[in-house]
Amino acid sequence: MTTGVRLVVFDWAGTAVDFGCFGPVDAMTRAFAASGVAVGVAEVRGPMGLSKKDHVRELLRMPAVTNRWRGAHGRDWTEADVDTVYAAFEPAQLLAAADHAVPVPGLLDAVAALRSAGRKIGTTTGYFRAAAEVVREAAARRGYRPDFNAVPDDVPAGRPAPWMIFRLMESAGVYPPAAVAKVGDTVPDMQEARNAGAWAVGVLATGSTIGLTADEYARLHERDRGRRLAAARAALEAAGAHVTIETLAELPGVLAAIDARLARGERP
Ligand SMILES: [Mg+2]
Repeated sequence: MTTGVRLVVFDWAGTAVDFGCFGPVDAMTRAFAASGVAVGVAEVRGPMGLSKKDHVRELLRMPAVTNRWRGAHGRDWTEADVDTVYAAFEPAQLLAAADHAVPVPGLLDAVAALRSAGRKIGTTTGYFRAAAEVVREAAARRGYRPDFNAVPDDVPAGRPAPWMIFRLMESAGVYPPAAVAKVGDTVPDMQEARNAGAWAVGVLATGSTIGLTADEYARLHERDRGRRLAAARAALEAAGAHVTIETLAELPGVLAAIDARLARGERP
C-alpha cells in the first residue's frame, strides 16, 4: 500500500484488552484509600487515559476530592501528596495488570485484517513501563503482538501530548501523520491523536466511559445500550474523534473509508 493509513495505534485498557477498562480503577481506588481518602468509580474514570501520575493529580484537583483530602488531612493536598498516592498506585497496578490483559472480542481478527491490508500496529498507553510490560506479555500469550510499543516513560509527557505517537511513527518509518490512525476509548486518546495530526477513532462498547464488563454490556436492554453508546460517542466526538465505532469489528471498514477520504485529498 502506498497511500492510506499505514500505521494503526491502539490504546491498551478499554480498547485492545480489559473490556470496560477495570484494571486501573481498583488500583487507583486502593491508592487513595491508603491515604485515607475515598474516591468513587465514576470519579476515577473521569481522567482515564492520562498517564497515571497525571491521573492522580487530576483526581486531587476535583473539588469533591480536594475537600475530602482536606477533611482527612487537615490541609490542602500538595505535589508531595501526588507522589505519595502514586507510590501506592504503582504496586497495586502491577498486581492487577496481568489480570486485565485479555484481548477484547474481535481484536485478533481486526489486527489480522489490518496487517493483511499492509498496515502496521503500534500502541500507546497511560500505564507506566513496568505495568505496560506485564500487560504486553500477558496479551502476547493470548495472541496479541503489536509491532511497536510506546509508554509515557519513553517521552517528555504522556497524553494528551502527541509524543508517543511520534515515537511510533519514527520506529515504524511512517509519515505524514495523516497516514496514522489512533484507536482509543477515552478523551485523552482522542486529544493525543488530534495533537499528533492523526485520525482519531473512538471505540465505545469496551471503553471506560461505558465501564461495563462484557457480560453486563451484553445484558443491557437495547434502549439503555443505545443511550450509553450515544453518551460515550458524544464525549469522544467533543474531544475530536473523526469517527466512532461500537466494536473493533468495524475498524477494518472504517480504515478503508479513511483511505478513500485520503485518496480524495481529505486530511485529518
Ligand atoms: Mg483506554
